[in-house]
Amino acid sequence: MDQLYIEQMRNWACILTLGLSLAAAARAEITAFTGARLFDGTGAVIENGTFIVRDGKIAAAGPSGKVKPPRGARVVDLRGKTVTPGFINAHAHVSDVEGQGTGATEDKVRAQLGIFARYGITTILSLGGEEPAAFHVRDAQETVSLDRARIFVGGPVMVGKTAEEGRQMVDKVADLHPDYIKIRVDDNLGTAKKITPDVYRAVIDETHRRGLRLFVHYFYLDDAKDLLRSGADMLAHSVRDKDVDDEFINLVKQHGVPYCPTLTREISTFVYEDVPAFFKDPFFLREADPKVVAQLKEPARQQAMHGSKSAQGYKAALPTAERNLKKLADAGVTIVMGTDSGATSARFKGYFEHLEMQMMSDSGLTPKQILIASTGGAARALKLANLGTLEPGRWADFNVFDRSPLDDIHHTESLSAVYIAGNEVKR
Ligand SMILES: [Zn+2]
Repeated sequence: MDQLYIEQMRNWACILTLGLSLAAAARAEITAFTGARLFDGTGAVIENGTFIVRDGKIAAAGPSGKVKPPRGARVVDLRGKTVTPGFINAHAHVSDVEGQGTGATEDKVRAQLGIFARYGITTILSLGGEEPAAFHVRDAQETVSLDRARIFVGGPVMVGKTAEEGRQMVDKVADLHPDYIKIRVDDNLGTAKKITPDVYRAVIDETHRRGLRLFVHYFYLDDAKDLLRSGADMLAHSVRDKDVDDEFINLVKQHGVPYCPTLTREISTFVYEDVPAFFKDPFFLREADPKVVAQLKEPARQQAMHGSKSAQGYKAALPTAERNLKKLADAGVTIVMGTDSGATSARFKGYFEHLEMQMMSDSGLTPKQILIASTGGAARALKLANLGTLEPGRWADFNVFDRSPLDDIHHTESLSAVYIAGNEVKR
């Protein structure tokens, strides 16, 4: 190697070092968000709060009298606004479950996560059926430049006819490094064969042996009880066949298992027998695919839904789900917000989370209960590190509202800005 070449290399190294330190300085930019009504995700409300964002994370948060913008910080005045942590959807999909091919490439996954983000849903747990692309997207989100929703994945949904087959399937899925494993214990209103207890017990056991959690799709109260006794880690839908009883309430509390109502999943099964009221909601229309909306308004399709046994079965089950949600919330069961959106194109990603919160309110939950279930409560129950609250050290994922959802949950539709890792999401 000649001297000139070495000299050149040194110069380049110098320029590179300078560039890196400039980049570090830009990253270290500090922003203070001042004067908002702060809901911190744990349940605490500060009427006039300030929080500081540094390197994509919350550096401090508290009453404006105590937390002051550091010298040189960029200041964003949020007087009159309400801030909550970004919403977490505990049951969504970016999958290809209906052959839509929507989740097959990283670009398509990111496009879907962009829709969630523009609605203030800053984290989703995709409960199964993801393509490898979704895993790659998940692996790339621990970064200060993030501006789309975070995703966690379950991988292929577990099936198996025997206990041994079940264990083998779990091992195959676990080797892909999912965040949890998903199983369906359901006969689809008596039209399919349900996985047997010896199989799901083997699956749960093997899942735990691999250090993962088992999230379960189910419908019936008796199945839910046995799944809890067998060690399931999240009930990913409502009990819909019967009213819950004390035995169930005790089991779900004893095991500390979160309960995810997915009321909008039920809505999606029957509501398009007519034109639903939300088709006129501007907040819905800003992202809804006009082609899908047009399809759902076709008279033939409406009539088919009206005459469908399963549609009418799930419609009849919805009031039971709503009563159960209220009873469980009153009993102190951990509720986590989820929609099953994305599993079909009729479950509108992003908008359905807001509709879900409205339905939780119609079921009798308070705005604070609903907001906890959609932020810090969900993060704690689902073990999502560094998410869900405005506490120091957490990612600065948060929503800004013109009107306060603490006063009326419908005000989540007054969403005026969304930040992920401190970056404002373009909407
Ligand atoms: Zn699902």
